[in-house]
Formats: sequence, structure tokens, C-alpha cells
Amino acid sequence: MAIIQSTSYSIVIGKNALNALSTFLKKRDYQQLFILCDDNTIKDCLPILITSCLQLKDAEIIEVESGESAKSLEFCAHILQTLLENKADKNTLFINLGGGVVSDLGGFCASIYKRGIDFVNIPTSLLAMADASVGGKTGIDLIGVKNVVGTFAQPKAVFIYPQFLNTLPEKHFKNGLAEIYKIALVADKTLWSLLRNETLLNKIDKLIALSVALKNSIVKKDPYDRGIRKTLNFGHSVGHALESMFLEASTELLHGEAIVIGMMIESHIAFQKKLISKQMLNEINAELLTVFSPMQLPELMPETFFQFLQNDKKNTSHKLMFALPIKIGASKYDIPVKPSQIKLAIKYYNALLL
Ligand code: NAD
Repeated sequence: MAIIQSTSYSIVIGKNALNALSTFLKKRDYQQLFILCDDNTIKDCLPILITSCLQLKDAEIIEVESGESAKSLEFCAHILQTLLENKADKNTLFINLGGGVVSDLGGFCASIYKRGIDFVNIPTSLLAMADASVGGKTGIDLIGVKNVVGTFAQPKAVFIYPQFLNTLPEKHFKNGLAEIYKIALVADKTLWSLLRNETLLNKIDKLIALSVALKNSIVKKDPYDRGIRKTLNFGHSVGHALESMFLEASTELLHGEAIVIGMMIESHIAFQKKLISKQMLNEINAELLTVFSPMQLPELMPETFFQFLQNDKKNTSHKLMFALPIKIGASKYDIPVKPSQIKLAIKYYNALLL
């Protein structure tokens, strides 16, 4: 079992993670327990959780629909109302059992209800295990804009039980790999080599632990996204704009799928800006294309895509600001990018898929 210490909480990873949750609950005297699930984790993960941690058998269960659409004001209101109707108070623990949608939404609700109640994350998707459940960012989407309402709020602990991945659909497994590739590219050449050279499924615990340790070390240096943490946004400027555009069009584009496209396009922008060589650009994109099958984009992107890019939280003084790689395992942030450079990179990206 690996235990990683974050700013104010522990991240427990391994087959004993649910026993560690039991011990955590014994040490504290919570009067009420709530578990937030979505319609998949309620059937695939909740029974395992309750069997391993009997203190949770009388917990109040709150269910939301699965998928990004749950990160909305409507579901947020439903959760807050349920807490209030059940007279939840400061002696309450709120447990997020699910993927990144559940930890973003549940963490957000717990952080604003009565100005904040305790919460823990039990991530069940690879993306949430390796990335979303750690770092304290919570949030929901508003009128199609991703994560535009949110808080920084740290969980009391994170319990990562990789066996939950047994029921995760393949496409969501790949979705999680995208964030592991991202952290390797921005922060760790060794992880990048590991991803390229070994059979992934045999070492998933190791990949999760490495990814969490890397993210944690960056987040500890910059918890509020003012400096080095922005490097974790590589692939996300274009990725978030695409996600928002697809939300509006109600075509499914998973977060990880959008980030893969984002990384490929933004790598070309890094090449245009002479931050990386042609050889490195080829290495990144060849590797991503062996693992992922990203979709073709329209040659002429709709105006809404550029509007979503303008709305990105990372921009300053109306300038588009990106985080870009400078070599495998190293990156820079706050780099101004012009729409013309994005258009050229999209053209290059589309040509790669032909
Ligand atoms: P998700 O939460 O929608 O989960 C993916 C799908 O897998 C859902 O259908 C879910 O029901 C199902 N699922 C999850 N665990 C399962 C299991 N063990 N067995 C069976 N089915 C399971 O999506 P995600 O990819 O986990 O997370 C995406 C979200 O995370 C996005 O909203 C993104 O913005 C957010 N995110 C947040 C951060 C952060 O730092 N806060 C970082 C990255 C991504």
C-alpha cells in the first residue's frame, strides 16, 4: 500500500485502501455520512465499498446521473437540498464515490454547504484515481462552459482502490490514460518511458501512484494555480474548448479524448514557437496515435470554439495563454498564443489523421 502525503491530507493507494477508510472513520466521530454515487458506481462500486467498510451501511446515498451533464447547477441544488433536508451539519462526512464528475460535483457541494463540510474522495475511474481526485479543484459547468464555477477545497483524505477499475468500461480506461500521458509529458521523462515500454495493465497501480505523486508534488508547490501548477493545463486550453463545443452539440467527447486532441494540437503550437524540435513533435504524436484514436476536426472550426478558448480561466488581459512542453518531461506556462497558430496546428493535426 502506498501513502502519499499532500498539503493537509493523505492519499492511500492499494488493495488495503478501503480498510484504511474504515480506520479513518473509527478515528473520527462523524454523526452523519453521505455517499454521492452516479448510476454506475451505485451498482458497481457501492456494494464493494459497504462490504469492506461496514460503518457505511446506514449512510445516506445520493445518486446523480452518470456523465458530464451531472456537473450542473440542477444536480448541485439537488445535493445541497438533500443535505439540508437531512439536517446535515458540521459533524457530517460527505463521500464522493465515482469518477471525476462525482469528485468535482460532490467536492464542490461539500465545499459550499454551510461554508464547507468534510469530504473524502474514493475515485473509481482511472482518470479520477490518477488525477481528478487529488489537488483540491472542484467545480461544475455553466451554460456549456466547463468548470467555470468552482472552488479550491481539499478533501480530508483520498482512498484509491484500483480493483474498482475491473468494472470500468474500456473507453473510460483509455480516457484516464490521457491524463497520465499528460503528466508524463509535462513533468516526468521516466513515466513517459514507462508508458512507452511496458504492458500497461500489469502495472496500473504503479502508474496511478507515480501520476498521483507527480501531481501532488506540483500542487503542493502551487495549490492555487498561480505558477507551476498551470503546467498541468497542457492540452487543456484546446481540450476544454472542444469539450464545451461538443457539450453544446450534445455529441459525446470524453474529457480524456479532448485532452489527447488538445495535446497533439498544442504540441504543434510548441513546435511553431520553437520550444520543441520536429523530432520531439513526431515522438509525442506517434506515441499518442498508437494508444488513442482521436477524431478528425472540422477544417474551419466554428466561431464558438474560439469563443470558448477566450473564456479559458488561464487567459490574461484577453490574451490566450497556454502551457506548452519544452522537452519530454518539462514544460512552461503563460505562453501567449495567437488564433492563427491554433488554426495552423489544427490543419496539421487533421493531416496527421488522414
Ligand atoms: P466520469 O466521472 O463521468 O466517469 C466516467 C464513466 O465511468 C461514467 O459513466 C461513470 O459512471 C463510469 N464509472 C466510473 N467508475 C466506474 C467503475 N469503477 N465501474 C463502472 N463504471 C464506472 O468521468 P471521468 O473521466 O472519471 O472524469 C471526467 C471529469 O473529471 C471531467 O468533468 C473533468 O473536467 C474532471 N476533471 C477534474 C480534474 C480536477 O483536478 N478536479 C482533473 C481532471 C478531470
